[in-house]
Amino acid sequence: MAKYSVLLTGILALWTPSVSGSVVARQNNNTAYLDAISEYVDSIYDDIWNISQTIHANPELGFKEVKAHDLLTSFMEAQDGWNVTRSLYNISTSFSAVFEGSGDGPVVSFNSEYDALPNLGHACGHNLIATVGLTGALATAKIMKEQDLPGKVILFGTPAEESLGGKVDMLEAGIFDDYKIDISLIAHPSNGPDTPYMRTFSTSRLDLEYYGKTAHASAAPYEGINAQDALVLAYNAIGLLRQQSQRTDQIHGIITSGGTSINVIPDLSTASFQIRAQDDADLDAWTKRILKCFDAGSVATGAELNLTMRENSYSAMLSNDILASSWSKYFVALGGTVPDAQLDRIKQQGGSTDQGNISQRFASIQPQFQIYNENGSVPTGGPHTAQFEVAAKSKKSFDKALMTAKGLAGVAVEVLTVEGMVDSVKKELEGVEGARGRKRRGVGREIRKVKGVVDDLHFH
Ligand SMILES: [Zn+2]
Ligand SMILES: [Zn+2]
Repeated sequence: MAKYSVLLTGILALWTPSVSGSVVARQNNNTAYLDAISEYVDSIYDDIWNISQTIHANPELGFKEVKAHDLLTSFMEAQDGWNVTRSLYNISTSFSAVFEGSGDGPVVSFNSEYDALPNLGHACGHNLIATVGLTGALATAKIMKEQDLPGKVILFGTPAEESLGGKVDMLEAGIFDDYKIDISLIAHPSNGPDTPYMRTFSTSRLDLEYYGKTAHASAAPYEGINAQDALVLAYNAIGLLRQQSQRTDQIHGIITSGGTSINVIPDLSTASFQIRAQDDADLDAWTKRILKCFDAGSVATGAELNLTMRENSYSAMLSNDILASSWSKYFVALGGTVPDAQLDRIKQQGGSTDQGNISQRFASIQPQFQIYNENGSVPTGGPHTAQFEVAAKSKKSFDKALMTAKGLAGVAVEVLTVEGMVDSVKKELEGVEGARGRKRRGVGREIRKVKGVVDDLHFH
């Protein structure tokens, strides 16, 4: 039987939000600084609009967001009191911008994404995510300055969210630990309703090849080893396995090549797949079952399988209830509406984000805000569609992004000003971990052996 090895990397923090706990009631109805935040954000409207439009008009793929990196860092360098570091920790298109308050205090952070999709441009609206992070951080610093507040606000430029996991690299490099962040704020555009709760899957991705042996397909087919058949068998095995999957297990993928000539037994076939599950523990179990399907193709045909797990698995997003409640308070005060929190926080998961990995380590929220076409209609397609790309550059979408950012600035200022809030927020996160009884922090590696299928699985 063919020998092959699998490298499975990615954070496997084995806890998920407890859905049984009660949603934290709003701490207070105080939105004391919201008018000042709002006024300030409106005063920088044109600058931020230009940044959003420029990023949208210049889509760049993950880790190649050179123009966006340059645009955002140049802009932040021109702001009073900000200390900007380009290409943070040698991650070329990442950056940090730090504003120090009047002394020691909570460290609130915002993340800006700015990568685009192959062939689709800014069809995930990351130009708007860049806008929200930038605006939220600036507005927070403005209040800190005015009120002479202790603490710190940091804007991180977090590249390559689409598939490559820029934030996972940043986490593993120790950036968020070294900057001692207390909370991590970000937001994402959507074609669904506004909500503080983003619910995403844990996910990992893999690429594979089957190696067979060519032979004349008519004269001597018995001399061949059919690599295409191996892949077809595996694909069908996965199809049958779906019946035994949990409702929250997913797998989807593409066959990227079979043979090249109809009269030659194919000696090479290739494919890529993405596996998703409700949390890292389920992803681990589901992945092991999927790998056996690929093994089956190899066993039946004799083709050799080479399977590579891509680096940077994503963990499910864990939303902090206290921060979610705070954002909702500000968002509603700005004229927005949010769903009932009890239902909203347990709604169906969809998609995946590398902010999930951060959220398992640091208290975080990623509100989703609905975007619109220029005429006010909601785009008929969601993220990763051409319709969404069009909506991501409309003025109405930008206005909603600013409203979202004002809400996040409200959250940040609340954490900076309300006595004990940062402790409560962190305590909630620790409680979620404790509830699952697992304290793994996603660092360090262990090697597991899975008989017959995989030689080495590296988890971290
Ligand atoms: Zn996306
Ligand atoms: Zn996205």
